[in-house]
Amino acid sequence: LFVTFEGGEGAGKSTQIRRLADLLRRRGYDVLMTREPGGSPGAEAVRHVLLSGAAQEFGTRLEAILFAAARNDHVEEVIRPALASGAIVLCDRFIDSSRVYQGATGNLESDLIEALQRVAIDGVKPDCTVILDLPAEIGLGRARKRAPDEAPDRFEREEIETHETRRQAYLAIATADPGRCHVIDADRDEDVIAKEIAALIEPMALS
Ligand code: C5P
Repeated sequence: LFVTFEGGEGAGKSTQIRRLADLLRRRGYDVLMTREPGGSPGAEAVRHVLLSGAAQEFGTRLEAILFAAARNDHVEEVIRPALASGAIVLCDRFIDSSRVYQGATGNLESDLIEALQRVAIDGVKPDCTVILDLPAEIGLGRARKRAPDEAPDRFEREEIETHETRRQAYLAIATADPGRCHVIDADRDEDVIAKEIAALIEPMALS
């Protein structure tokens, strides 16, 4: 079972992934928790470049190709082998982040994004995608509170409107692919959200 988590900054993806992983492990499942960009040594090296100041000089195509290259390494080195061994894979961000960040707010043509994704994932598609949905101001506020002294990375410096565009892009992806995508209202108590996600994923783990 391959589950991806998506959403804007401050939506609570890493918290909820950790909680779901803990729960599934307590139930006896073999769980691999991973994240993008990164997740394999090669992809983590690319992440470092993508989130550094150097990337400010990159055009959208270079950026998108690097994300796709990192994803391919992550898929081939980590995700595909874990799925083959029967593990449940929980991944923080995946193909929909590229559609939203490089597509909706990076203005990259969707044909190019989809072509890159085909190469990147080579058939390893998420069975289920949890989209943590949150109004832009709340997510941005949470992300800032989390690291008040840290220089915000170049993505987090962007404005509220950009976050709102991303939110709408995630909702459009969910509408277009309702069999895979599940939108969860992330503007609620952490425990309530965790229970809702568990109720969604546990039956899938059983089947
Ligand atoms: O999940 P997290 O917020 O740690 O993601 C790291 C950063 O990478 C985010 O700030 C996000 O804006 C950016 N990103 C991106 N395109 C992707 C995936 C992540 O711009 N395809």
